[in-house]
Amino acid sequence: MVRARDAQDTWGHTPLAERVKCLLGAAREMLQRRQEVMQLVEQEIGKVHAEALFTEALGPLDAVKGWASVLRPALARRKVRLNPLGFPGKRAQVEAVPRGVIAIIAPWNFPVAGLYRSVFPALMSGNAIVLKPSEYSPRSSGWFAELLAAHLPAGLVQVAHGDGAVGAALLEARPDACVFTGSPATGRKVSIRCAELGIPCSAEMGGKDPAIVLADCDLERTVAGITHWALCNAGQACGAIEIAYVERSIADAFVARMAEVWKELRAGTDVAPLANARQLAVVREHIDDALARGATAVSGGAPLGQGLGFAPTLLDRCDDTMSVVRDETFGPVLAVVRVEGPAEAIRAANQLRYGLGASIWTADLARGQRLAERLDYGVVSVNNHSFTGAVPSLPWSGTRATGFGVANSALALSTFVRPRAVVVDRRKDLELYWMPYDETLVELGDVLADLQQNRLGRAWKLPGLIRRRMRALRAFFRRRRSGEVG
Ligand code: NAD
Repeated sequence: MVRARDAQDTWGHTPLAERVKCLLGAAREMLQRRQEVMQLVEQEIGKVHAEALFTEALGPLDAVKGWASVLRPALARRKVRLNPLGFPGKRAQVEAVPRGVIAIIAPWNFPVAGLYRSVFPALMSGNAIVLKPSEYSPRSSGWFAELLAAHLPAGLVQVAHGDGAVGAALLEARPDACVFTGSPATGRKVSIRCAELGIPCSAEMGGKDPAIVLADCDLERTVAGITHWALCNAGQACGAIEIAYVERSIADAFVARMAEVWKELRAGTDVAPLANARQLAVVREHIDDALARGATAVSGGAPLGQGLGFAPTLLDRCDDTMSVVRDETFGPVLAVVRVEGPAEAIRAANQLRYGLGASIWTADLARGQRLAERLDYGVVSVNNHSFTGAVPSLPWSGTRATGFGVANSALALSTFVRPRAVVVDRRKDLELYWMPYDETLVELGDVLADLQQNRLGRAWKLPGLIRRRMRALRAFFRRRRSGEVG
């Protein structure tokens, strides 16, 4: 923490263009050395090759450029006009001041690309960081941090490896802000401790994204899209589709086509194994619970061999008594809930515990957009799902148990910078409202109140009152100077 603080002192005063240049250099090198990081995430958390490339290795340069575009206007000094009648001779501006050292506590599911949206804006806006990667992905996140550090002043990027105890200890070292991404249970602990210590904290927690499938949807695209967003990263994404609310009239066709497609997917090439035994246990528990409560397994339902592989599992006829509908599964499982129509689907979706992403699948885009406005979620898509998690210009956030943190876009910057208003007064004369007070000032206040309400009755008195008040003030201070008062 001390080393990070020392390094931040200078970095915080380095022009944005230079900071961006350093990060561009790091991002270029990351992209060139992408095979290394792909290998690490494949070994460490079992990503399939294509996902290691597309979700972890391809993005750093675009992310740095995107963040630079967000930050240039957002961090620029901004002049603010003050009413010249109320505040004559005054000039004001607002500047964004880096908070100092940002603690970044991260999960394992996107151990490299998941860091862009906190690490890049934190550094670019003039902070140092202490990164606490997940204990399940230390080498992938460590690779990212090491490479970044090599392009930045010494000490600016620190890494604290270890489990939850290390994360908890990091907060006790009093960083100036904290970005937490992870489960609601941990997020709650981190948010409470940060509040106790007075550390601003942005907490982004889980998701249980629903897809609403309307009868008029393009079935092929809908099946393909929901398949992708349910099974990408073996469903271990906060923005994975975990529930499909399907209009009853097309439910049979939807389920049948999904089952056909899922049969063709290849374990290890299309669908990754689970990342760890903890996830495997949750997935099994949710499936067992759903089957015991009357769901039917249309496909999958069991592990693949002895390892962490799990067959993509499509569960039909699910309902909200089941943990597969209520709680985050974070696995290759899709629960189908049959509904009468969009009203029922929206009501059910808005009652889910989480509120990160949702989508509507329909051929009628205008209707889809109208329905999107009724979904109480942070990211709502029509005919696609949650593909903007790494887009710096669009906010990524949620409601309910997902938390109140905002990632991406200028709306996320309050975690990294605080505003400083600087006001300069060019006036040499005294101010009307300064002490000592007298009756002229009180009368002046009444006339000003009338004027604010467009009552012009006593307006004619204003110049005279101002002159009288200023004369009295000047006389008071002249007398003070010559020792006549007090
Ligand atoms: P987790 O909560 O178990 O761990 C997250 C991080 O917190 C880890 O680095 C862990 O070591 C640390 N930690 C644990 N206890 C701590 C404590 N007491 N104090 C400080 N730090 C502590 O989560 P996970 O299993 O790594 O990640 C999966 C979860 O992350 C899922 O719920 C997923 O939805 C969520 N997630 C959310 C988003 C989002 O944008 N909303 C993105 C990715 C992942």
